Amino acid sequence: MLVCEAGQDTPHGKVPDVILDSYPGTAYLDTRFHWTDLKVTTQIVSHNNPNEDRPPLRKYEQARVLGGGSSINGQLANRGAPSDFSEWVSRGAKGWDWESVLPYFKKVERDMDFEGPLHGKEGRIPVRRIFPDLWNGYSKGAAAAFKQAGFEYLPDQNGEFKDGYFPITSSNAYERRVSAAIGYLDPGTRLRKNLTISTNTQVQELLFEGTKCVGVKALVDGRQTEFRANEVIVSSGAIHSPAHLMRAGIGPAMHLKDMGIDVRANLPGVGQRLMDHPSIACAAFIKPEARINEYTRRHIQVALRYSSEIGGAPQGDMFIAAVAKSAWHAVGEQIGSMIVFVNKTYSETGQVKLSSADWRAEPTVEFNLLSDKRDLDRLVDGFRRMALMHAMPSMRDVTSTPFPASYSDKVKQIGVINNKNKFLTNVMAKLLDGPEPLRRILIEKLIMEGVTVDEAVHDDEKAEDFVRRSTVGVWHASCTCRMGADDDPMAVTGNTGRVRDVQGLRVVDASIFPVVPCANTNFPTLMTAEKISGAILTQA
Ligand SMILES: Cc1cc2nc3c(=O)[nH]c(=O)nc-3n(C[C@H](O)[C@H](O)[C@H](O)COP(=O)(O)OP(=O)(O)OC[C@H]3O[C@@H](n4cnc5c(N)ncnc54)[C@H](O)[C@@H]3O)c2cc1C
Repeated sequence: MLVCEAGQDTPHGKVPDVILDSYPGTAYLDTRFHWTDLKVTTQIVSHNNPNEDRPPLRKYEQARVLGGGSSINGQLANRGAPSDFSEWVSRGAKGWDWESVLPYFKKVERDMDFEGPLHGKEGRIPVRRIFPDLWNGYSKGAAAAFKQAGFEYLPDQNGEFKDGYFPITSSNAYERRVSAAIGYLDPGTRLRKNLTISTNTQVQELLFEGTKCVGVKALVDGRQTEFRANEVIVSSGAIHSPAHLMRAGIGPAMHLKDMGIDVRANLPGVGQRLMDHPSIACAAFIKPEARINEYTRRHIQVALRYSSEIGGAPQGDMFIAAVAKSAWHAVGEQIGSMIVFVNKTYSETGQVKLSSADWRAEPTVEFNLLSDKRDLDRLVDGFRRMALMHAMPSMRDVTSTPFPASYSDKVKQIGVINNKNKFLTNVMAKLLDGPEPLRRILIEKLIMEGVTVDEAVHDDEKAEDFVRRSTVGVWHASCTCRMGADDDPMAVTGNTGRVRDVQGLRVVDASIFPVVPCANTNFPTLMTAEKISGAILTQA
């Protein structure tokens, strides 16, 4: 077996410190580990009115390092609602109901806190929580607000799926990230004679004989090489996997013709129905004594699952994470935020299309995040709930000056590690710790996105405008090569990831989800990989 990865290796003993760090905010933005040319739109793109301005392009970090997103992500480790997987089945993914996927979720993990029928104890990825006695003041304040808002404390996020607030589960052990590469490609596994790992290896092209995929062409450390294989498994993520397929002539015929690509298999679903979880934030200045403490560098310790009851959404459709540090720098330690995201997302009109047939060109990516009005309504409602919580005594004890926010390109720009940003944020932090009126002016003029909390709470038009402009995804790109039934024209793969109408080719990653689950997507992706590897071993 040969693993090709465009980015660098992370072997035991040589994993870069920013990847190992329990605080993930530096790995997120470290350009060594990204596809740096990738830009996306998040707002709805109108294809009916060519005169309408295209929405702004934003950065969208996708990992380029062994382990993919699991090497740079926030380390949140959860699974979604059992009903998500009933929906997978109803959308044509036979055999992916909750009872069938649970054993593979358990196979992934080594839960360090809980046992019982919902937990694995022997998997490659350790899972743990930081319990309330060790939380920083900000997390304690947020938890008290969740409680005052009427929610129950659930010690185990991965226990029964119901509303309540809980310590976040993370893929982390002894204050170190455990990525898929660290957990699965450990020194013992690397000794296997049937495994070769080729990093700094960018696949340019899938090689075909007729409709059979027979290998790949790749640049290995800049040298062009061909690898032949009995079967090729594409796991390049929900943005790059459909691009590989389309460049190989597998995709919507009209689009391929527009790109000058010969059609090998007309699969209209390739690149279509891209999804993510739309999100918005309510940020605030954290008082010095409530900031991240010496016990852990984990910055997200507590979260809330709740039911909006808007638009017929199922139970537990919404998620609020309390983030006690917004960036690595001095100002980041002073600003916390509640981030609300629509966990049961209805917007599914996003798409990935080729911008050129050239393998070097990043595709055109349109998320169309709020194409379903119910997602917009739930974010406005979610923002207002968070504003209310910030007005509760427990949040007022630990924060001041709340303001509407999002993880914008402005925030990301100041989040890149360099001396200039370090200097600027040190100066700004000193001023922010000064008198309240000065802090308020600085936040309004330099950090806020033009809308105040009062306006977002009391003025529907301003609230909607803020949410439409500022909503971003949470890096849960998925669903662009969906599994589905044979008679579903939009299905790209069967229920073991085999690409339809060609041979020797599977897709196994977040792109085959039939719909994004109510979860951060790393564990659902690992579950999917475990389940399909089980099928491969039994030759399904
Ligand atoms: C910043 C960030 C934060 C996130 N936070 C969380 C979180 O806290 N919890 C959670 O559950 N999920 C989180 N996610 C999402 C999660 O990490 C992803 O859903 C998951 O990694 C998806 O896995 P994948 O296999 O589909 O794609 P990826 O993880 O993106 O892996 C694709 C791999 O393919 C490689 N590749 C692509 N093209 C080529 C090519 N041409 N040649 C060779 N290699 C190639 C890439 O370099 C990459 O390593 C986050 C993601 C990001 C980016």
